Amino acid sequence: MTNHASNKLDGKVAIITGGASGIGEEAARQLTNHGAYVVIADIQDKKGHDLVLSIGSHRCIYIHCDVTDEHQVKSLVESTLQSNGHLDILFSNAGIMNNIKQDILEFDIPAFESLFAINVRGMAACVKHGARAMVAGGIQGSIICTASIAASTGFENRVDYVMSKHAVLGLVRSASKQLGAYGIRVNCVSPGVVATPLIRGVFGVSEEEGERISESSSSLKGALKAKHVADAVVFLASEEAEFINGHNLAVDGGWAGIR
Ligand code: NAD
Repeated sequence: MTNHASNKLDGKVAIITGGASGIGEEAARQLTNHGAYVVIADIQDKKGHDLVLSIGSHRCIYIHCDVTDEHQVKSLVESTLQSNGHLDILFSNAGIMNNIKQDILEFDIPAFESLFAINVRGMAACVKHGARAMVAGGIQGSIICTASIAASTGFENRVDYVMSKHAVLGLVRSASKQLGAYGIRVNCVSPGVVATPLIRGVFGVSEEEGERISESSSSLKGALKAKHVADAVVFLASEEAEFINGHNLAVDGGWAGIR
């Protein structure tokens, strides 16, 4: 697909958590392509710094931030405001899937707790501090969280992951009701299977094998790519989505429809 980048996010300042890899990395590329200045937040410092070099240090910066630590999230938002004056877009995307199967009979509670610390508590901390900055600055911003197809159905295993993504949906639906009064929109994207490092690591597959899994879970030809998800994020961040709030945008090639 040809990339017709516009300047529809010109002058906007964005934070992307989990921005060093996979969907977050591609979102950093697409948001900067559309004119936004992006603060890439992650715990993979080398990947984050390499990404800044690849995109261009005048268009983005990398800041280490572990979303499980609320102090780090608060300071990420504060340093974004100090350097850029405002925050317009938050893409709260950091998330993991455990390497163990997590069916309910063998449910590993400590593993569930550490997954929830990232996928749910971390997500809520980011929405909290991002929204506070927007409210304080009078910014009618856009907050986008990464949920999943796992937010709308159960799986036989990965119970912890499925629970965490249902929680993201609850966060988005509730926060959107409260923040709408400030003109702040809160939505989520729900990707199908994308052959990112997360999926390749958990399923122990190559990129090509991951893409085959992706293709088999879509009614469209071809694999779902991070770019497709990033395009949806750009849309939700932009004024084209100015009256869309509390929405769960599936980017799954029809996965939900073919289940
Ligand atoms: P990825 O592993 O490529 O990227 C996730 C990023 O999050 C990594 O860079 C990782 O370092 C970062 N991260 C992990 N823990 C963190 C923490 N504590 N603090 C800050 N950053 C942290 O995976 P991805 O597939 O791009 O995943 C991005 C999001 O998309 C996740 O929320 C995931 O659940 C969701 N998702 C992915 C798929 C898929 O098929 N790949 C499908 C649906 C939803």
